[in-house]
Amino acid sequence: MENETSAIALEARDLTKIYRMGTVEVRALRGVDVELREGELVVLLGPSGSGKSTLLNILGGLDTPSSGTVIFRGRELALDSERALNLYRRNHVGFVFQFYNLIPSLTARENVSLVTEIARDPMPPPEALAMVGLAERMDHFPAQLSGGEQQRVAIARAIAKRPDLLLCDEPTGALDSKTGILVLDAILRINRELGTTTALITHNAVIAEIANRVLYFADGRIVETRRNAVQRAPAELAW
Ligand code: ADP
Ligand code: MG
Repeated sequence: MENETSAIALEARDLTKIYRMGTVEVRALRGVDVELREGELVVLLGPSGSGKSTLLNILGGLDTPSSGTVIFRGRELALDSERALNLYRRNHVGFVFQFYNLIPSLTARENVSLVTEIARDPMPPPEALAMVGLAERMDHFPAQLSGGEQQRVAIARAIAKRPDLLLCDEPTGALDSKTGILVLDAILRINRELGTTTALITHNAVIAEIANRVLYFADGRIVETRRNAVQRAPAELAW
């Protein structure tokens, strides 16, 4: 279980990110410092365009900053090495996005197997699918599943390699509240039972109540950090 004195799993120092398009410059991150402690569930909350996805992508090795450092379990990532970033992503990071990106011609179990075949210490796909409440749906194809179920398959796929970090970018963004709650339940269960350090992006303040800690974004900066006195269960939420 996380607490304020758990070891730091991931930290980033003074991150900046400038996107250049012709003569136009967009400053997506303007000096961000962040720490994720082992086992913590952190929500990144802020309006559209405030830099949340840019930060998450950098933390997960999908993108690199214009300046700054990322340190995973005490070791600085070699941000200039595509090979080092590939290994970091493959061995340590599970990503979940708003859209599920499942392969339509493969069943739920086969979608998860694609990842476990190349992982070092994978979970059997049925076990990963059971963790997200889909034990009975393993042999269904994506088109036979609801949006929320497809997202839970995507979560099973992300955790089947037993990542140290689970990074979720608006995982309920395309779902209604009732379905979204089941997706958040699955994420919370993984965080608690596997101890996976989790960061979750939302622009919905209600969803932030499931977090241990909330980072508030505005205009490329973290403008406030707050620890939730009470971590609310997804079932108590509605949006
Ligand atoms: P959020 O996830 O909070 O909505 P983003 O990190 O996606 O914010 O975007 C932050 C800023 O960077 C926005 O102004 C966005 O338009 C810009 N941006 C994001 N990705 C790119 C990109 N690939 N090229 C150019 N600008 C980008
Ligand atoms: Mg975003």
